[in-house]
Amino acid sequence: MATVAPLSYSSYRTYLECPLRWKFLYVDRLPEAPRGYFTFGRVIHTVLEALVRPLVVPSARRVSEAESQRTLDDWQSTAPPAPTEWMTREALLDYYERSWLSDGYGSAEEEARYRSLGRDLLSRYYDRIAEERPTPIAVEEHLEATWDGIPVHGYIDRIDRTQGGGLEIVDYKTSRELSHEDARDSDQLTLYQVLVERNYSEPVAGLTLYHLRSLKPLRAPPRAPTALSVLHERMGTVSDGIRSEAFEPTPGRHCARCDFRSRCPEFRTVPPSDETRLRDLVDRFEMLRAEEGRVALELKKTAQDLHRAAEQLGVHRVPGTRSVAVRRKEEAWKYSPEAVRPLLERVGRAHLLGSGSPEEIRRLLRDPSIDPETRRRLAEVGARRVRWYWELEEPDGGG
Ligand code: SF4
Repeated sequence: MATVAPLSYSSYRTYLECPLRWKFLYVDRLPEAPRGYFTFGRVIHTVLEALVRPLVVPSARRVSEAESQRTLDDWQSTAPPAPTEWMTREALLDYYERSWLSDGYGSAEEEARYRSLGRDLLSRYYDRIAEERPTPIAVEEHLEATWDGIPVHGYIDRIDRTQGGGLEIVDYKTSRELSHEDARDSDQLTLYQVLVERNYSEPVAGLTLYHLRSLKPLRAPPRAPTALSVLHERMGTVSDGIRSEAFEPTPGRHCARCDFRSRCPEFRTVPPSDETRLRDLVDRFEMLRAEEGRVALELKKTAQDLHRAAEQLGVHRVPGTRSVAVRRKEEAWKYSPEAVRPLLERVGRAHLLGSGSPEEIRRLLRDPSIDPETRRRLAEVGARRVRWYWELEEPDGGG
């Protein structure tokens, strides 16, 4: 059994998507190739942290003292020292340029496009925040907790004090699209609620995904206990999987952006020496599959023709060259308890009705303690389904 390090939201999501990829990342610590949109998101987060930090009034009371401040999950910031006072727009954009990283962009054009998007987005956000002047009590805060037996942690972009005296969790998003449903259903926000509730004495009053491209804060109320227990159960399953070292590959569309395909058994290639033998097997398998479908269709049609012809002649046994085809009957009854119960209640026998299964009703139809008239009416409320089918027998099988 492996010990389980505290689960972050991204670790939990990675395991759910593919346990083997989780192992490559969190056990083997294999690096992934940088991606431009992640680099962009990190730079924007760093600059926003520097912008908002001078507004922080750490007035909410921490329950635990195990606090540390870092920038983002598993990311070592290389940003230049941030100004400690409220920045002018020029200082903000200058800090942005000095914090810029070029890792992972597909081309110089792509990098230039993102860089200009970042300037525009920060400039507009600067106007907005200067108007709103939120009252954060923490930014980029690392919180840890044990959630009913499961160690969890996370980095929270911003925690604001609301006018009503509670706490609002704010998570910045640089993605293209975001909706109110995303805020309502986000497991990430659910986990952050748990982390804040276990580290602060004030209640969580709201959860927000802040869509930076549109400057829209998408707000959701705090999660109800049922939503918390659903996530707790799922995280418990992930935690158990990690503890028992269940690292099966789980292929899917996500494999397209997995950096570990060359190590993954799902993508292992056939050695050249076995290529011909295995290709022949695949070709044969494919041919039989096609044949199987055609045969199944033909079998069904022939059985229908035989049944029709035998019915017209009124015969139920039809000799062939090697076998005899014999007609068989399969009968099924269906009873609705709503129809059966009143009949039994009328004669004081409702206590005999249990599951209402066909077997049970058939027993009741034979039960001498129920009068014959009630039994006859019981039989009438059932829906009978008869299916005829044909079987082959030896010519002297006798049926
Ligand atoms: S290639 Fe797909 S199945 Fe293999 S480790 Fe990556 S995500 Fe998992």
